[in-house]
Formats: sequence, structure tokens, C-alpha cells
Amino acid sequence: MNGHPIQSGSDSKAASALPSTAAPPFNKAFADTVLRTSDGVDFHVWRGVLIEASPVLSDMFALGGESSTTSKPEAESSISSACHATTGAATVIPFPELSTVLDPLLRTCYPPPHPTFPSLDSLKPVLAAAHKYQMEGVQELLTKELLQHARTAPLRVYVVAVRFDMQHAAEVAARHFLGLKVADDYVPELEDLSAGSYHRLLAYRKRCTQTLADMISSRLSWLPERQPLWQFLACRCSREEFTVTLQGSADVQYNVAVWFWQHYRRIGVLLAERPCRAALDDPKLNDRAVMEGSECGSCRARVHDDLHAFTAYLLEEIDRRLAAIPLPTA
Ligand SMILES: [Zn+2]
Repeated sequence: MNGHPIQSGSDSKAASALPSTAAPPFNKAFADTVLRTSDGVDFHVWRGVLIEASPVLSDMFALGGESSTTSKPEAESSISSACHATTGAATVIPFPELSTVLDPLLRTCYPPPHPTFPSLDSLKPVLAAAHKYQMEGVQELLTKELLQHARTAPLRVYVVAVRFDMQHAAEVAARHFLGLKVADDYVPELEDLSAGSYHRLLAYRKRCTQTLADMISSRLSWLPERQPLWQFLACRCSREEFTVTLQGSADVQYNVAVWFWQHYRRIGVLLAERPCRAALDDPKLNDRAVMEGSECGSCRARVHDDLHAFTAYLLEEIDRRLAAIPLPTA
């Protein structure tokens, strides 16, 4: 998180028991409300902002929940001059979160710049608080922060998103979960996920794996015709013995160049391991096929362009088939 919640402080033992004042912009003595965190930091805030941001806080204010926590004159009068802001007319409300959580939570409600988070661990308690106080606008803004970790830690992000009812983030994380080589690795966040939710996530991945295995085993029935014909079907270099058909022309059968079929089988292995388009990201995959295809004098001139076009169709087909699979429900 950027910024530090505590602006003032004292190194005396006496002052350590007294509230300190939060960093700007939460140090304005003329603000109408003070939130005092569990670690004793006073945040001077505008009640109207909190009412707009959180129905929970709005209800609390409406019910006069803060009446019993009104500023204690004795304590306020004894605090250091650095904390003098709390001695105004503002109501002091104990807030059961740490200042390290309240600071970014409030900054996300206030006008930009909004806080950034260096790690998922630093983001989680703020998401928990946003969920607790039903701050939907904050959750929406923090979704972007959460999704920054979706590619590198999809399972962790999935659990956090499910736990805090962040549907869009959960869906994105579930798709990135397909990119993991090992699906059942342990992450600490799993302790917060129900067995049923975890089962549904694994079942989703299993279904994606099966769907792409079906696509591979259907040979090229999903690939459209092309003029001139795909070189790996047209060339008379060494052929696989079986035949394939193309989309829309099941009555025409082709034998496939061996070099291409080896490439296709490698794709099948990669998709079985990681059922998503990211599995095919490695440029060495096509480079190898180009190299092998170039050993045929006839294929050489077209192997690069044909593979490029084939890959585009393949990725489109992967996306189409995966999009038809319902995402797991929490
Ligand atoms: Zn050839």
C-alpha cells in the first residue's frame, strides 16, 4: 500500500497508549467523524462519504450506533498536541480494524489516487473489510488489483474472490486456473474454500480437459477448407496412414503430412496438461514444426504461413469450445 496511515506519533511510553492521527487526507480536524482503529489511529473522515460507500456504516449511523462511543473528553484532552485534531466536535467511533486496513479502504472510497498493493497478502484484509462493510464500489475497484495476481496465483485469487463474493474475479481466476500444470497443489487459502466449491472448480477443469481432448481426437473436423489447400494436406511428402476430413466437407478425405501430424500430437499433449490457449504460447512449438516441415522441399515455402493460419484457427476453436463450458459456481 502506498502512504503510511500514521502521520504523527511519539516515542514516549505514555503517548503509545493514546490515539495518533492518520496521514493526510485523514488528518483534517474539521471533518465531521473520527474513526479510531483497533491499533489507536484516528482517521478524520466525512460521514457522507462513508454513508455513500457502505450501507453497513450508513445503517450504523442511522441507528445512532456511535452514540455510546462519542468522544471521551478526558482521553481527548490528554492526548498530545499532534493528536489535537480529535478534540474537536467530531464524533469518535471505534472501528474494529487495523489502521493498515482502514487507510487503503478509505483511500479507495476517496478521490484518486487510489492505493496499490504490492502483494495478494496485503490486499486480502482490505478485501475482507470491503466485503464486511458491503462496500461494492470499493470491491469493484479492488477487483483490478486482485486480478493482477490471477495469472501467477489463480487458485489463491479464485478462493479470495469466492470468499468475498467477487463473481467476475472468480470467473477470470477459474479460467487462469486452467493454465496451471499441477491442478491440486496446496495453497493456504484453500482452508477458506468449501470442499464443494473446490470440487466444482476441479470438475470444471476436468471438463475443459475432456473437451479439448475431444477436439484433438476429432482430427481436423473443425478446421475449414482453404484455397489453396492447406500444404500439410496437399503435399505428397510422407503421409500418415489415416485420413482426416475438414469442416463442411466430410466427404473429402485427406492424408496428413507426417511433420504436421507430429506437431498436432504435441499440441494434444500440451492441451492435456493445461487445457487452455496459454498452453500453446511457447513459440518453440511452431518453430519446431516449421523446421521439420521445411525438410520437405515442397512444404518449405508455405509451412510458416500455413502454420500461422492453422494456429489462429486452432486458438479460435479452443476459445469457442471452452466458452461453451459453464464456469464453476461458488
Ligand atoms: Zn511436403
